[in-house]
Amino acid sequence: ACKQYLTGPIETTLCDYETVESVNDDLFSQLHALVETPFFKYFRVDLYRDCPFWQENGFCMNRECGITTVDESEIPEKWRAATLSRLETLTGDQRTILPGCYHRDSDYCFLDDMTEGDYVDLTLNPERFTGYTGPSAHRVWSSIYSENCFGLSHLSPGSDNPMTSVKKSLPESLKSRTRPHSVYDSEDCLEQRVYYKIISGLHASISTHICHENLNQTTGEWGPDLQCFVNRVASYPERLQYIYFDAVLLLRAVARLGPYLSAYDYCGTDTHEGDAETPEELKRIIDIAQAVGKFDETMMFQGENAQILKQEFKEHFRNVSRIMDCVGCDKCRLWGRVQTTGVATALKVLFELDEKALDPKSNPNLLQRSEVVALINTLHRFSESLAAVNIFREMWAETDVQQ
Ligand code: FAD
Repeated sequence: ACKQYLTGPIETTLCDYETVESVNDDLFSQLHALVETPFFKYFRVDLYRDCPFWQENGFCMNRECGITTVDESEIPEKWRAATLSRLETLTGDQRTILPGCYHRDSDYCFLDDMTEGDYVDLTLNPERFTGYTGPSAHRVWSSIYSENCFGLSHLSPGSDNPMTSVKKSLPESLKSRTRPHSVYDSEDCLEQRVYYKIISGLHASISTHICHENLNQTTGEWGPDLQCFVNRVASYPERLQYIYFDAVLLLRAVARLGPYLSAYDYCGTDTHEGDAETPEELKRIIDIAQAVGKFDETMMFQGENAQILKQEFKEHFRNVSRIMDCVGCDKCRLWGRVQTTGVATALKVLFELDEKALDPKSNPNLLQRSEVVALINTLHRFSESLAAVNIFREMWAETDVQQ
């Protein structure tokens, strides 16, 4: 029952993703309303950490690269206090001290130290075309794809690192440091393919936003640029599929987190203490996620070396979150951080937490506020990309008719 969409270069076989397509209008409108609310629009982030991998000189001087921050006094007291006290609950073992950031063993990303950074109103800093491009942007993407190859990171020949056994078992194509930006071949294991799909889907989603909210530098007008979308995404049908793939992965995480998210306290004032009202939009989003979030996480990390592979998967994803500090454009870095944190939160929920851990009664402080905010905003980004794809499909159909 796969439906084939044949509309020139914008074609994809939706199969598993078809159900996501069918609910996306509803999903997008709920998410769009939800991310405008105070709980979900304020994100605390330290955008000025040094790039840990290379000397980053590519700062974007474009006006669109800048962001506006919010004075902390505008943020409800409760969220400020809550984040600080939650950080303090981490013990030395759980918290790996790194300059300006930390992670717990189960985390798939480095989180900001909550005592540093600024609050940003995400609704005032939309992710769109900024003009950030050239060697700096390419270096970041290239290191996300190439420097983080499975079986390669942190290893030197003869090292007694336990990852060596994984390295030896890898197909030749994965041992190259200059892996081409293409879908892995069929020899690659499921986990490696999933890793690539996640990154490529994120990249395609960001490209879709850039093309959807593009600045025509001749006329100075903002609007969708069909040719940009065709060049960057639609000419590579697999990239489009990976946007769906990420959306399904995030929905599955939201579905699993349903009881936890429903019990979360979204009120910013102490007058609502104990009265954890779940926003109506979120209830609907959880319902949709439970109906269509059909990602089967139990298929992953099952075979030989499963635990080593999982550890490496996690370390690579943490590296991706640190590579975000090398993005030379504040607004791109902000959204890069939001989305890598959102995907990392989903991965943690899918691969690290069992039903007991997800139980809000036994584990009320499971996620930091920034993780919940990032997860929902990231799902919103992907859902918006799928909505934009439809707009581009219509634009393409019109061009076709005219020819
Ligand atoms: P790039 O998008 O830079 O891609 C580089 C190469 O990667 C391509 O040549 C292609 O070979 C390969 N590639 C491209 N897409 C995929 C894919 N989906 N899967 C696999 N391989 C692929 N710019 C903005 O205007 N606004 C933003 O908000 C923004 N956010 C960014 C966030 C991050 C984290 C980064 C690293 C960059 C961001 N940029 C942003 C820059 C933007 O992503 C592009 O790098 C830039 O527009 C230049 O695009 P490009 O066409 O040269 O190719």
